[in-house]
Amino acid sequence: MVLAQLGGSISRALAQMSNATVIDEKVLNDCLNEISRALLQADVQFKMVRDMQANIKRIVNLEALAAGTNKRRIMQQAVFTELCNMLDPGKPSFTPKKGKPSVVMFVGLQGSGKTTTCSKYAYYHQKKGFKPALVCADTFRAGAFDQLKQNATKAKIPFYGSYMESDPVKIAVEGVERFKKENCDLIIVDTSGRHKQEAALFEEMRQVSEATKPDLVIFVMDSSIGQAAFDQAQAFKQSVSVGAVIITKMDGHAKGGGALSAVAATKSPVIFIGTGEHIDDFEVFDVKPFVSRLLGMGDWSGFMDKIHEVIPTDQQPDLLQKLSEGSFSLRLMYEQFQNLLKMGPIGQVFSMLPGFSAELMPKGHEKESQAKIKRYMTMMDSMTDAELDSTNPKLMTESRIIRIARGSGRPVRDVMDMLEEYKRLAKIWGKMKGLKLQKKGDMSAL
Ligand code: GDP
Repeated sequence: MVLAQLGGSISRALAQMSNATVIDEKVLNDCLNEISRALLQADVQFKMVRDMQANIKRIVNLEALAAGTNKRRIMQQAVFTELCNMLDPGKPSFTPKKGKPSVVMFVGLQGSGKTTTCSKYAYYHQKKGFKPALVCADTFRAGAFDQLKQNATKAKIPFYGSYMESDPVKIAVEGVERFKKENCDLIIVDTSGRHKQEAALFEEMRQVSEATKPDLVIFVMDSSIGQAAFDQAQAFKQSVSVGAVIITKMDGHAKGGGALSAVAATKSPVIFIGTGEHIDDFEVFDVKPFVSRLLGMGDWSGFMDKIHEVIPTDQQPDLLQKLSEGSFSLRLMYEQFQNLLKMGPIGQVFSMLPGFSAELMPKGHEKESQAKIKRYMTMMDSMTDAELDSTNPKLMTESRIIRIARGSGRPVRDVMDMLEEYKRLAKIWGKMKGLKLQKKGDMSAL
């Protein structure tokens, strides 16, 4: 995901600003221009970036910034708030209720991932105890019904469609009626998506919507669409009453800024994101954790909630203390590795932090990652207490490295690798220094 680059660029702009000896109008403007450039490069719409810049200038008090020691945090908080506001249209979308029939219609351009997303959405709700059903009202694309049928069969979800009937409205109405009779509580209607935003597509969509009276229309958008996102989303919104957005292919090279544009254009929240081709590659979208990640701040709000949720109360103070000290010894790394391997509660917590899981344990390579972590631990077993408790990487002299390599029967290169990993994790851990962690979802870490 190119989002990481955006986070990096914004962090650099903030760092440059906080390094300046005097914070005046020019320094602030330079910083905001840098941030704006980064957002534009990430495909956020021009007008939104301009508005955001103006809002931040209004929020950030230059005097407080000049006097304060936490310039970076003040600015980062302002950027965070603004991005959250952009992504939060202020009204939640309709949510289906179990046992009460709801009709949800999916719209979007061909290739956006609409059919795949219908199945993911159905499967997600099925796991939550809903009784979903899929209706294929895409009579335009040859193979659309087959694709839906295949996905539905795999996930054991009832489906409806026709190879013969060419009227999408008729199929949609028949499908919805049938599944209502069968007491399905979530009836999902997949509509056709043409290549372009042509008049016929919008007319067809409008007719299907009028005939099935959906409780919710979900607009599916491919995240790689870039700057065109705003116009595309707006065109759909003008034809049918879009109530929510799902952004697909967030696992690819998309810049992600299009999500913000789609929200602005439809005034509807993003509710899920697609992160792969598999039916399980589907995540609930939450604004705050997303923006935190976008800004390279880690998923703080989720992280705090998770700590309170999964760590036994008596263990919380100790962990929070270590976090707030920000000092990360090799021993602490060893302990966290043990937790990661167990994938116990703390493993879950740390998997939310950037660097701890995604890089150390990338999805699909769990076996290799586990072997690597075990290797690291074997080498750490050959370390002295002083080495394990030190937070000073300079302590690890050449002779110590050679001794550890010999003691653990590993090549020197492996010990060097492990120490590099330690430095990387120590840097992430260091960011948590000074956290005030008492409250649930506390954002004072920013
Ligand atoms: P539709 O024409 O809008 O119905 O699009 P499809 O559902 O047929 O999807 C088009 C292609 O995108 C297919 O190859 C899907 O497997 C793929 N796709 C859909 N969602 C995602 C996603 O979140 N990530 C990735 N990597 N591929 C996806």
